[in-house]
Amino acid sequence: MNINSILYNADFTKEELIYLLSLEGDACKPLYKRAAEIRKQYVGNAVYLRGLIEYSNVCQKNCYYCGIRSGNSVQRYTLADEEVVAAAIYAYEHNFGSLVLQAGEIASPQWTQKITSLLTKIHKETNHSLGITLSLGEQNADTLKQWKNAGASRYLLRIETSNPDLYKKLHPNDHLHSFEKRLGCLDLLRSLDYQVGTGVMLGLPFQTIGDLADDLLFFKHNDIDMCGMGPYIPHKDTPLFQYENILLTPAQRIALSINMVAMLRIMMPDINIAATTALQTLDPLGREKAIAAGANVIMPNLSPISNRKDYLLYDNKACIDENAVQCLNCLKLRVEQAGCEIAFGEQGNSLHFSRFLKINDAPL
Ligand code: SAH
Ligand code: SF4
Repeated sequence: MNINSILYNADFTKEELIYLLSLEGDACKPLYKRAAEIRKQYVGNAVYLRGLIEYSNVCQKNCYYCGIRSGNSVQRYTLADEEVVAAAIYAYEHNFGSLVLQAGEIASPQWTQKITSLLTKIHKETNHSLGITLSLGEQNADTLKQWKNAGASRYLLRIETSNPDLYKKLHPNDHLHSFEKRLGCLDLLRSLDYQVGTGVMLGLPFQTIGDLADDLLFFKHNDIDMCGMGPYIPHKDTPLFQYENILLTPAQRIALSINMVAMLRIMMPDINIAATTALQTLDPLGREKAIAAGANVIMPNLSPISNRKDYLLYDNKACIDENAVQCLNCLKLRVEQAGCEIAFGEQGNSLHFSRFLKINDAPL
């Protein structure tokens, strides 16, 4: 295959995706160059901040890969409203532009109400100026509507893998962990006018390069607005840890992740793509590499330091003992090293979503 003729096509076939995913070392350079060109043309060199608040590690699910699964005996916490509001005010005063509120999955009327009231408080205390993304697992339509009305505009719900058979190997086989339900929830988010974010883990046991090519086609087919992809990192107290010896090496998982980011940027030029913390955990330069390859969102951790050790989805998580100022200083440098600039004070909504709205709002 001729890489340049592939890269300048509007669409990739599955075979071409597999070829691009297999590129290594210097052979990746044309791919990254093309992704950087597209990024400059469509979304510029701005990198948007989302202050990440790990609100609670209470979770009803028991995903086989995750350190805070319900079956694990970890110290459970839920932040007080005041702690969340303090983190939000910090984000506001430091011109972050946006917040992500993330937690384990809980579904109950009390939880719905709690988040609604929290959203209202955050907006009130931050002059209604922050974009708010939720990452709170699968929820029903009434709950999602209520949260949207209270001021959440984006939602992150990773599909984890687009291969239903692989999904079954990563989760218990019950109603709470249904692939179809997760898919349905993504559709629901779209119908409720959220900016829809999804993503996958890369380098999972049993995952093939063909699966990753299908993941990219899934994102395109589902016309997503935002994407977060990161390497799978084993957690020693989880059932999936037993397959640690069949995993790709950390360096291979990083290389695959960067190729995926670059390819998605080319396939979906105006979406938001995150440089994830998991990348930085496996490679100190992982996030810069993702930014140089087309990622345009970064999520500094604003959770209280005392709680971070209890929100360990995987082992050796990066930045768990740095305060937000230290993190921000190091981030600024890292982003500049990647040839980009942090866009302080901007919400950084997905341009893909805005274009979609404009087309639909246009008079017939
Ligand atoms: N409970 C919510 C949000 C928190 S988990 C949810 O599951 O949607 C956020 C993400 O962390 C998950 O979607 C998963 O992709 C990622 N994650 C969990 N365990 C991981 C691991 N061992 N390695 C890498 N990413 C992991
Ligand atoms: Fe809970 Fe999310 Fe972890 Fe699954 S990945 S156990 S839903 S926190």
